[in-house]
Amino acid sequence: MRRYREYEQENRESRKRKRRQSMQRKILGFCLFTFLLGVLCGRIVFAKSGGEKPEQTFAEKAENMLYTAENLQWEQKPEKAAAETEGIAGNLLEAGEEEAWKLTLVNKWNPMEDGYRPAVAEIENNYYFDARAVGYLQEMLADGRREGLDFWVCSAYRTIEKQTDLFEEKVRRVTAETGLTGEAAREKAGTEVAFPGTSEHNLGLAVDIVARDYQILDEKQARTPEAQWLKENCWKYGFILRYPTDKTDETGIIFEPWHYRYVGEKAAKEIMERGICLEEYLDTVESI
Ligand SMILES: [Zn+2]
Repeated sequence: MRRYREYEQENRESRKRKRRQSMQRKILGFCLFTFLLGVLCGRIVFAKSGGEKPEQTFAEKAENMLYTAENLQWEQKPEKAAAETEGIAGNLLEAGEEEAWKLTLVNKWNPMEDGYRPAVAEIENNYYFDARAVGYLQEMLADGRREGLDFWVCSAYRTIEKQTDLFEEKVRRVTAETGLTGEAAREKAGTEVAFPGTSEHNLGLAVDIVARDYQILDEKQARTPEAQWLKENCWKYGFILRYPTDKTDETGIIFEPWHYRYVGEKAAKEIMERGICLEEYLDTVESI
């Protein structure tokens, strides 16, 4: 009986143990499941955040790179800029770009840049010239005078206002002489006085020089020793006879033996040697 009880007790305990074990396994299983679920969820979360993270890192990196690049730029700018400026200036000098102002083309098809006003300096007699070239003009006049020539400067730099006055005056005279009015009168006036902004005198690089004892602006001016000396020697000072006899179609201006234009020695030498005009010279230069 006791044995049976013992047996039963043992049996009960064994069942209890089994239940406990079963419960423990369930709990363990649950825990394991929860843990696995947790890991899985965690993974998903990690995976998600992991997926975002590189993007963020990339964005951050990109931002950092930009920031760094910007900083580097700012840090390096002064030094680099100075070096670049020197380089550009050097290259421009080599390429002749530095000389560009000397070769500015102004004619009736190529008006001057609006509002352009050169820095000028006095030549003599209250006439002014581009300050960068006035020295060459004075040297030319002085050298000719030393050889006994008697030059008379009769026009040089003209402001747009002055050119406008001259042009309007010409229009009035044309109307009085021919009866032409409006556009017809302006067109006729334009053949003798350049429309404001289309005269080299507005540019500050043109000068009219005549013989003091023959101050008339006509073709006979070409026969004076002064005009002949200028035609022969002007290039040495960087000047050209701007409107030669046979270039009216190219220049749009009749022969003017008194009108000289500064273009710099290199261009002047080639233009005078080859007997071409500025328009033709610029065509060759641009096609190279
Ligand atoms: Zn002139």
